[in-house]
Formats: sequence, C-alpha cells, structure tokens
Amino acid sequence: MNLQPLPPGSTIGILGGGQLGRMIAIAAAQLGYRCHIYAPENDSVAADVAADFTCAAWEDKAALAEFAAACPVVTYEFENVPVAPLAAFAPGQLAPGVAALEVAQDRLREKRFVEQLGGRPAPYAAIDHESEMADAIARVGAPGIIKTRRHGYDGKGQWKISSAPEAVGIRVPETGLVYEGFVTFECEFSVILVRARNGEVRFWDSTHNTHENGILAHSVLPAPAIVGQQVEAARALAARIAAELGYVGVLTCEFFATAQGPVFNEMAPRVHNSGHWTIEGAVTSQFENHVRAICGLPLGDPASVSPRIVMDNLIGAEALDMVRHLSDPRAHLHLYGKAEAREGRKMGHVTRVG
Ligand code: AMP
Repeated sequence: MNLQPLPPGSTIGILGGGQLGRMIAIAAAQLGYRCHIYAPENDSVAADVAADFTCAAWEDKAALAEFAAACPVVTYEFENVPVAPLAAFAPGQLAPGVAALEVAQDRLREKRFVEQLGGRPAPYAAIDHESEMADAIARVGAPGIIKTRRHGYDGKGQWKISSAPEAVGIRVPETGLVYEGFVTFECEFSVILVRARNGEVRFWDSTHNTHENGILAHSVLPAPAIVGQQVEAARALAARIAAELGYVGVLTCEFFATAQGPVFNEMAPRVHNSGHWTIEGAVTSQFENHVRAICGLPLGDPASVSPRIVMDNLIGAEALDMVRHLSDPRAHLHLYGKAEAREGRKMGHVTRVG
C-alpha cells in the first residue's frame, strides 16, 4: 500500500453525494485538497461544495474509469455503493477498501464476521424464504425485529414484531432477511475509530446515542457510566474488525450496552452521524482524520475538547427555523443544503460544546 502522503492540490474522489460527502469535502478543502464527487443523483449537496462532479450511474464503466483516472485517492460516504464496478480502482486507491463494503452491505455476513472475531451480535436467524419465517422466530424468540439483509438504513427495511403471527405477509426479498431478537439495553453507543495506512488506530469518545423512529436524534457526552464500563471491550472488537479488513479511514461500530456487556448492532464503513459532534467537540474531527488517513498523513488528536457535548439532529421541518437555532449563541448550526425538508430527512445538526 502506498504510504506516501498525497500532496496538497491533489483531488480526492468521493463516491456518494450526501451530507457526509459534503462534510468530508469541507475538511479536505481545509487541508488544501480538491474533491470530485461521483453520484447517480444530480442534486448532490456534496457536489455543491466540491471542485468537480460526475453525475453518472454506478454501472457506467466509462464514467467511473474517467473518475478513477482523475482521483489518486477515492473514498465513499455511502455504504451501499455496488461492489462490482469498484474493480475500476487500482489496489490501494480506494480507501477504505472493498472488503469493508462487502461485509457492511449484508447484515448476515456482518454478524457472522463479527462473531468470528469474538464479538456478540443480537441473537439472529437467517430467513431466505417465507417458509423459514416461523422457524426463525421460534428459534430466536419474540419480540424481535425482521430486517432486510441489504439496503436497510435509518430503520428502513425493518419490522418490529411481538409474536410470530405479526410476521405473516412480510415478503422475503431475493437478497433475504434476518430476524433479530429484541435486545433489552440500557443505552446505545458507537465506537468511532480512525485507522491510518500504517495501521495506527485512534478512537473518539463514545457518546450516548438516542434514536427516534429508527433515526439518530441525539449524541451526548458524557455517556452513562455503563458505556464507560463497556467501551474498552467494544473498542477492542472495533479495532479487530478494522485490522481484519485492512481498513484505512474512519470506521463506526454501533453497540447496545446491556447488563451482559456490549452487544454489536452494526457497522458503517465511513464517517457517521454519531460523530458529527467532533467537528467542534474534538481536537480533530472525524472528517479531518478520515481525510488524513486516506491521504497517508499523520493522524490528529481525537480527544474531546470538553466533557459536556450535545449534538442534536435536525430532521425534516426542524431545520427550517434557522434564526431560532442561532438565537443560542453557543449553537454550532450545520445545514446540509437540501432543497426539500421532507419528513424523516436529515437536514442538519446543531452541536453545543460545554
Ligand atoms: P439499525 O438500522 O439496525 O441500526 O436499527 C435502528 C435502531 O433500531 C437501533 O439503533 C436501535 O435503536 C433499534 N434496534 C435495531 N435492532 C435492534 C434490536 N435487535 N434490539 C433492540 N433494538 C434494536
């Protein structure tokens, strides 16, 4: 793998055009890089702050080859980028690599992978056909959550059931489902780490994450005491995951803190919403350290600048009243520049430090 730092003025390619790409591009610009966004949708809030934009399908071989030629380093802000077209990139050009995408795109594969590394996911069973549904629920027990193996996010592609009859009528897609037992947890937290090209790993503090309607609502420091008791084991697992994948960049692993220890929920091979507070709340943000890692630069200090930090997500219409948010002089308001404040859409966030 190339360990030479990418010189300033070079272009970083970003696959995906959403707010995570936008915040990566802003951090990259501060370090003197240009960003080139590649996304299939033409209303890209990342492209709005980037130097170049290719709007093309993931399967457009010619467009992807041109993009690969223009960007010495390429990263992704979206974990559902199809894997096959990524053969367009040279070894080491894509960071994190394809292995992380392959694991993170499939909930079943992800759980098996994590178990092999000594991690503990929620009890689960695979469902490949409607006829397997009742048996899967009986083996794991109810209540639980039926989830699509692929393409689920922010609580989408999930059905909570309290007993087997409630699952009747749920169709099994070609790519399958997993049934997960409902985990009784004290709280949810994430481990966000950055891994450099030379294998060095650093962690941000773990916030207490609360969700509303399956979407992250708040990330708060300090987290409850139970997170402090379980974070070391969770970090050790996240570091093993990153090492096993030969990972370069920011990796997020989400956990449930339970009376029996940390239960692995899922991973995101990218910067994460529960790390947005690091822009003002850490010496080095997740976005800057992601850029540093993929560009072969020394990592920055992820330490928190205060023991008390709150990040509130602005979902849908909550984002519209900019003046109200800014009437608190301590509020750091981030708006993602999305045209329409649709219900359930992540429009921005507010961070308060101290
Ligand atoms: P996910 O998209 O799998 O992260 O699910 C979104 C949210 O649903 C999680 O952050 C939890 O709040 C909740 N959730 C998901 N799976 C489970 C589970 N097995 N037990 C309890 N809560 C869950």
